[in-house]
Formats: sequence, C-alpha cells, structure tokens
Amino acid sequence: MNRRSKVLFARAQKRIPGGVNSPVRAFRSVGGEPRFIKSGKGSRVIDVDGNSYIDYVCSWGPLILGHSPSKVQAALRQQTDLGTSFGASTENEVILAEMIADAFPAIEKVRLVNSGTEATMSAIRLARAFTGRNKIIKFDGCYHGHVDSLLVTAGSGVATLGLPDSAGIQPQECISTLSVPYNRIEVVQKVLDDNRAEVAAVIVEPIAGNMGTVLPAPGFLQRLRKLTREHGALLIFDEVITGFRLSYAGAQGLLRLKPDLTCLGKIIGGGLPVGAYGGHREIMKWVAPEGPVYQAGTLSGNPLAVAAGIATLKALKAANVYKRIEGLTQELVAGLRKAAEEAGAAVQINTIGSMFTVFFTNSPVTDFQSAKKSDTNRYGRFFHALLDRGVYFPPSQFETCFVSLAHSRSDIRTTIDAAREAFAAAV
Ligand SMILES: *Cc1c(COP(=O)(O)O)cnc(C)c1O
Repeated sequence: MNRRSKVLFARAQKRIPGGVNSPVRAFRSVGGEPRFIKSGKGSRVIDVDGNSYIDYVCSWGPLILGHSPSKVQAALRQQTDLGTSFGASTENEVILAEMIADAFPAIEKVRLVNSGTEATMSAIRLARAFTGRNKIIKFDGCYHGHVDSLLVTAGSGVATLGLPDSAGIQPQECISTLSVPYNRIEVVQKVLDDNRAEVAAVIVEPIAGNMGTVLPAPGFLQRLRKLTREHGALLIFDEVITGFRLSYAGAQGLLRLKPDLTCLGKIIGGGLPVGAYGGHREIMKWVAPEGPVYQAGTLSGNPLAVAAGIATLKALKAANVYKRIEGLTQELVAGLRKAAEEAGAAVQINTIGSMFTVFFTNSPVTDFQSAKKSDTNRYGRFFHALLDRGVYFPPSQFETCFVSLAHSRSDIRTTIDAAREAFAAAV
C-alpha cells in the first residue's frame, strides 16, 4: 500500500522540481515513485502508509548510529531549549573543532560550514589562494557536491541522470578542472607533468562512495601523496562520507596518509546539515578573518548541528564500534554473495568497513568506467523487489549502502532472505 506516498508525490511535483529537494530521491533511475518517510528508529524507517523498511541509505551516510539515537535526540532537545541559532560563537563549536582535530592528525584547524558542497567549494578556493594556481585535478566518478567547477564527470546523482555535467555552468568555470580516471596514477602523473606549476590541488574521495563503493588500488593514494608534494599541489581528501565512517580517523587514518586539506560532512552533523574543511595551520591561516580567503555562513557552526555532531562522535569513540559495524557488514555481504550466486545473478560486491555496493556486472569495478558497465535495469528490479520485501537500498546503482550501529544480526538475516528472492527477480 503506497496510497499516501502517491498522493504526496503528486502534490510535491506541482510545487517542487521533480517533487524532490535532491534529485536521486525521485527514483528516476530505478523507476516507480518514491516513498515519503514519516519516521525512523534504529535500523528502520516507516513511510506515510505505515510500511516499515530496514534502511541501508541512512540519510546517505550521516546516520552511522541509526535513526533517532537517544543520545543525539537528548542533545538536540537540550539545545532547542537554549536556542537554535545565535550568529555568535558558542562553546560547542570549539568542542567539535577540538574533537575533529584530535581525531585527524592532518587537521590542525577546521572551519565549520553547512554542507559537504560548501566544504569542497571552500577548500578549492583556499587551495587556489594558497598556491596561487588555478587548475584542479579530480577523478571521474568522484562527487564533491554540486560545486560548479567540480561537476565534471561527477558520480552519484549526476551519473544516475546520465548528465555529463550540469546545464547553467559557464564553460570557463570547468576549463581549469581536469578529470582523470580513478586508480590510474600514470594518468595523474602525465596531467601533472603537462601542467607544471599550474595545478592548485588534487581532490579525491580516498575511498570512493559516489560511483558506488570503489576501493583505491594498492599504492594509488600513497603515490598520489608523493606526486602532489613533488609538484607543489595540495592534496585534498574529500572525506564527507568516509570521515568517522571507516575509522574514527576516517580513510586517512585507515591508510595512514596525511592530506593537506580534508573535507568532512555527513556524520559530523549527526543527521543535521553540516560540513567542515580543515588542515595544516599554515594553510588554514589564509581563511578570513585571519587571512584573505573570504568564506562565511549565517548558520555556520549551527548549535543544533554541532550538538548532534558532538553526541554522535562521542558515541563513535566507544570501544569496538568500528569492529562491530564491519563484522555486521561482512556477514551481510557474504550472505548477499551467496544469495546472488544461488539465483544465478552476476554481481560484484565492493565493500570496506560499513560501506558496500552490489554492482550488476561480471567484471571487477575499479573505476567509473567499469562501474558504468553495470546493468542498471537489473539493479532497478532488484531495488524494487527489496523494497516490496521491506528493505530500503539506495534508489540508484551508483550509490553506497550504509550499515549502521543500529542494524542487528536479525536485520542482516532478514535482508539476506529478501535478497535471495530479489536477485531471482532481477535476472
Ligand atoms: C555527500 C557528499 C558531498 C556533498 O555534501 P552535501 O552535504 O550533500 O553538500 C561531497 N562529497 C562527498 C564525497 C559526498 O559524499
């Protein structure tokens, strides 16, 4: 029964472009109509018709503790009583900045903003100012928010809609953006050589989540670190997804690498709008009011977002959190692989930590080009068969599934049972 969702979607389409406030929510790449969600608790969301789903979208990454965790809810209630925004400094902003700096050795100073998009946009501006150079290297299939200059061969919703980039962006805005294949260090090397002393920064999702989950080849990021240093370009890790997700110190903690700048978002806002960028103090001192790079925000460091972020990070500091969530994910992925095999569905499941993607393709997925070989029609059938069975996967092949600390082993078993039938329906 989806009657209420249908009625709401019809109303939404009259007043909101495509009926949604972010494109991938519209289900365009899997067909059908989106469910309108009324509430979420733990691993589950409930829609307006009362259907309950085990959720692997988790708000696209922020909800690592699951929906409505009591500690975050309590922190939010406490802050609401005190006020929601002052446009002046608060103690909690300092505490969150200290927690981020403690977690990430590469971050000595950090600026809070309102979204991941603002974080990458500001990091690029800062990198250009600091180096006095213009060009930016990014990777095909890596998504860094809807920043004009970064919407070049971006993954995620852009991949889903099949747009090479977006209308309304001036060509000269992207002339300085060089997009190269992920995991191909020799191409990066050539582009850096061909653009000597012109590249301000290389921005990368160290472990990619926005073309589906794609892992860096052994040595790829280490060599990227070395090459950027040799060429005087800054290395920006976009850890908006992976920060506090793959380890308390993000992907860079896992890989023991130190980028020059790091972008954060999602988890550090505990489900409220947030972003952050930070790095070495010598670079961050270029940011206003200390330096000449202007960047501001009416609601930046918002008290509610910061309260939710602090409560979330505190919960993640507990022992064995990452081990537990990874164990659950491995159990799920092993079950999915077996279910796919039994159903005769050709899939590749990429996974790390609590992230995974089921790609409907025969060949390994190591970059955007190989990800795009996936059969998106099959994914669409798989997605809907799961949804009908109360399991909510991302409504696009080119996204990452997230397991939260609220998922239980019984959720995992239920999901595998549903997937067994969904794989059969997909092939
Ligand atoms: C989600 C995401 C962004 C953009 O964050 P918003 O808060 O949606 O603006 C940037 N980079 C990566 C890697 C992301 O996953």
